Amino acid sequence: MNSYQEKQIQETIERSLEGIKREAKRREETQREREAENAASQLRQWNLAQKNLREARGYAADAQKVVDKWNRAAQQASLVLDSLTAGGFVPPAPVVKPTSAITSQVVAQPKPAEPALESETYVSRAYEPCPVCTHPVPPSIAWHKIEDMPDIICVIDAKRALMSGVPAIKIQNALQRQAVAVQNKESQ
Ligand SMILES: [Zn+2]
Repeated sequence: MNSYQEKQIQETIERSLEGIKREAKRREETQREREAENAASQLRQWNLAQKNLREARGYAADAQKVVDKWNRAAQQASLVLDSLTAGGFVPPAPVVKPTSAITSQVVAQPKPAEPALESETYVSRAYEPCPVCTHPVPPSIAWHKIEDMPDIICVIDAKRALMSGVPAIKIQNALQRQAVAVQNKESQ
């Protein structure tokens, strides 16, 4: 080999070495870029997960407050029920709604009828025509009222009417009216 050939070989080797170095550098840069991208991707995942965690914990805390509130309400209602029971209150049996015709015969018993009231008994009394006005009246009465005329009475026995408490003026008026009626009847 002459010196020219040696130089040629030397240059070729150097070019090859440079090429290898460039390739190594390129690969290194590619690797770094890949790692950087990977790190950036993981950072995005990290931040997203942190955000989700905060949000989920916030919702869970809010939901827990609601659960606590309803648990307290249930506890208070239970205390009321317990105190009523302790005080001797006995709740009525729950009303069972009939669900079918068959159960309705069993459950929906007719309300027991109230006891029938005894029929009123009327004492039949004998009536006689009033000796003054011929209106039917119980026998042996001293005076009687006249239908639809609350202030006017018919006096049969003035003395007994007075004794029974009828005002004298009322008896007097009745007797006068009766005397006029007798006169009118006689004059007809
Ligand atoms: Zn009469």
